[in-house]
Amino acid sequence: MSHLLEVKGLEASYGNINVLHGLDFNLEDGGVTTILGANGAGKTTTLRAISGMVSRKGDIRLMDKQLVTLGTADITRQGIAHVPEGRGTFVRMSTEDNLKLGAYSRRDKAEITQDIEKVFSYFPILKQRRTQQAGTLSGGEAQMLAVGRALMLRPRLLLLDEPSFGLAPLIVQELFAILKRINVEEGVSMLLVEQNASLALELADHAYLLETGNIVISGTSDSILENESVRRSYLGY
Ligand code: ATP
Repeated sequence: MSHLLEVKGLEASYGNINVLHGLDFNLEDGGVTTILGANGAGKTTTLRAISGMVSRKGDIRLMDKQLVTLGTADITRQGIAHVPEGRGTFVRMSTEDNLKLGAYSRRDKAEITQDIEKVFSYFPILKQRRTQQAGTLSGGEAQMLAVGRALMLRPRLLLLDEPSFGLAPLIVQELFAILKRINVEEGVSMLLVEQNASLALELADHAYLLETGNIVISGTSDSILENESVRRSYLGY
């Protein structure tokens, strides 16, 4: 597989506090990569740095296109969709209007309608909730809506921040099975940040372990699963 995204020497800061200290990593085209790490390691900041939501330096190339000089709207237009922690859906708008909003940068009306139907085919519950205000959805439905809205951009890369957060185990299994299908059937690459390391390693093919703003271990998910210190610290066995 070739690299969809190449990151070199990535630094990010809040004010004058630097929280990423020169990350180097690649994402394979069509793959699922996860970033593991403890609270405060810099996982969310890494996703924010890719989508231009935090001050950053270094090299972020999407198929040779430099992203570090672009703002968030332009990065989105390059095909990177960010599903933030906390989901960020518009609670007073209907499910369907949230999906339409996800396609705000597109003009192809007929295809937008088709894509809404495609989202409903992955998440049939959203079709049932079509006219319902997003604020009245369950946690699992709201997360599905957040993913569905990101898909409306027809992204090449989906950035997923803690999609399992606060959801019941059965809902999480359902959501992750659908994410796998989206990866395989739509060819959407994914970068996943997840507290639940075993779940993340099940979905991902590659993983990076982040500790206080530095990558300390990287490899295939299988090799990471066999790593003694990852097992002890993040998998609990
Ligand atoms: P968590 O799982 O707790 O979200 P994380 O690995 O995603 O952890 P980040 O949220 O990226 O970690 O935070 C990395 C560091 O940056 C932490 O020390 C955090 O306190 C700091 N930080 C995060 N957001 C801000 C902010 N808006 N302003 C200042 N510092 C921040």
